[in-house]
Amino acid sequence: MVVPYKHEPFTDFSVEENRNEMLEALKKVEAELGKEYPLIIGGKRITTEDKIVSVNPAKKDEVVGYVSKADKELAEKAMKAADEKFQTWRKSDPKFRADVLFRAAAIVRRKKHEFTALLVKEGGKPWKEADADTAEAIDFMEYYGRQMLELKDGAYVNSRPIEHNQFHYIPLGVGVVISPWNFLFAIMAGTTVAAMVTGNTVLLKPASATPVIAYKLMEVLEEAGLPKGVINYIPGPGSEVGDHLVDHPRTRFVSFTGSRDVGTRIFERAAKVQPGQKWLKRTIIEMGGKDTIVVDNEADLELAAQSIVQSAFGFSGQKCSACSRAVIHEEVYDQVKDRVAELTKELSTGNPHDNSHFMGPVIDQGAFDKIMSYIEIGKEEGELLAGGTGDNSTGWFINPTVFGNVDPEARIMQEEIFGPVVALTKAKDFNNAIEIANNTEYGLTGAVITNNREHIEQAREDFHVGNLYFNRGCTAAIVGYQPFGGFNMSGTDSKAGGPDYLIHHMQGKTTSEML
Ligand code: GLU
Repeated sequence: MVVPYKHEPFTDFSVEENRNEMLEALKKVEAELGKEYPLIIGGKRITTEDKIVSVNPAKKDEVVGYVSKADKELAEKAMKAADEKFQTWRKSDPKFRADVLFRAAAIVRRKKHEFTALLVKEGGKPWKEADADTAEAIDFMEYYGRQMLELKDGAYVNSRPIEHNQFHYIPLGVGVVISPWNFLFAIMAGTTVAAMVTGNTVLLKPASATPVIAYKLMEVLEEAGLPKGVINYIPGPGSEVGDHLVDHPRTRFVSFTGSRDVGTRIFERAAKVQPGQKWLKRTIIEMGGKDTIVVDNEADLELAAQSIVQSAFGFSGQKCSACSRAVIHEEVYDQVKDRVAELTKELSTGNPHDNSHFMGPVIDQGAFDKIMSYIEIGKEEGELLAGGTGDNSTGWFINPTVFGNVDPEARIMQEEIFGPVVALTKAKDFNNAIEIANNTEYGLTGAVITNNREHIEQAREDFHVGNLYFNRGCTAAIVGYQPFGGFNMSGTDSKAGGPDYLIHHMQGKTTSEML
C-alpha cells in the first residue's frame, strides 16, 4: 500500500531559508552552464557533431547546454531500440514501474531547488512559476504511479456460471512523446512517465528550446532503476525527427503537447496508414487555448481584476491556460478595466534570476516577433491601456499589455498569441457574456467571477471549456485535483492528471474461459 496522493506543496520564497537555498541552487546550476549532453538510445550515450544550443531567454548570450541532435538515422536507431525493448517491458510488473516513479519523485524532491533553478535558466521562469513546474513534475510521477496501481488488475466484468470472464489493460507499444517548452519539466515528465508506467516504451523528443531539463529527467529515471531502452532521449528538429517518427509504421501512439498548427499536422499524419503498419495510431494531443474570464455585474470586482492580471501575465502568458480575453458586464466594465490597467502597470519585467520581477522573458526570438506583431494588430483593434512595448537587446522581454474595447471577433480576441497580452470586451448581460466566451474555436480553460448562483449553474452547463473555474483565475490546475485538458481545437481532452489519463496509453483485453 502506498500513502494516499497529495500534491507537492509550493515553496514560500519570502522565507529567508528558502530564498537562500534557491540562491545556492542557482549557483550550482550556473557552475554547470554550457555543458554538453548526449542522446540516450537503448541506454547508450551518443554524441553528435551537430548540436542544439539551449540558451537562457533572459540572457541570450548565456548557454544553458549544448545538446546532441538526433537526425532521421538516429531516430530510426531509437525506434529499433524501443521496439525491441517493448517485447520484454510490456510484461514488466506494473508495481515495479510505479515504484520507479515513486523513487524518481523522491530523487527530484530531494534536489528540488536545483531543478527549479534550471527551469529559471532554461525556461526563463520566475521562481514561483519554476517552483510550481517542479512541484507538478513530482505530482505527475506520484499520481500516475498510484493510478497504475489502481488500474493494474483491470475492471470487474460479469460472468455466467459456466465461464470466468476477465478484463484488463495491456500496453500499446512504442509511443512518441513530443513535449513543449512552457512546462518544460512538468508536461515533459508527465507525458513521458504516463507512457512508460503503462508498460509502453518511449521515444522522447523534448522541445528544442528546452532539452537540458529532459536530459536531467533521464538521469533521475536511470537512478530510480528504469531499465535501459525503455525511454530513449532524442531531441531533434520536428521537421526531421518528429515527422519521421509520427509517420513510422512501428509507432503505436503519439503524445503531443504544443501548438495548434503542429498538433493538427501530427493528427493528420498519424491518421495515414503506412505500408507495413498493423494498427491505427492513437493520438493524445493537447493544443492551445483562447481562454476567457467572464466578469458578471454582481461580482467581487477586485477579485476579478486580480484574477485577470494573474492569469494573463503569469509566466508571461505562455500557458495554454492563460487568460487572453476578459468579457466584462457593461455595468462594471469601466471599473474592472481601470483596475486591470492599474495592476498591470505595477508589474515589473526583467531577468528572473534574483526573483525581483513578476514577469520574465518570452521563450525566443520567434515568440518575441510573433507577440510584438500581435501588439501592433491590437493597436489597430483596440485601445492600448498598458504595456505595448518590448526589448530584445539582452533577453526577449515584453511588457504586460492590455487592450480595451476590443470587438469579440477581432483577431486578438480569436487567435492564440501565447504571450503577455490580454484583450477586454464588454457584454450586454450574462447570456451575451457566455455567448462571447464560446465564440472561439478553442475550449480549454475559462473562469467566471460572479456572486450569482444561477449564473454559476448556467456557466457550468453552457461555458464550453474543459477546465472551468469560479471566482478564481483560469490557470494553475493541480494534478489529481483539477484534471487538465480542453475541448474543440484545444485537443483530444485526454485530461492530464486525471483518473482516466493512463487508459489512453493502453488497450483493454477481455478473456473468457469456459469452466
Ligand atoms: N496545466 C497548466 C495550467 O493549468 C497549463 C498547461 C499548459 O500551458 O500547457 O495552467
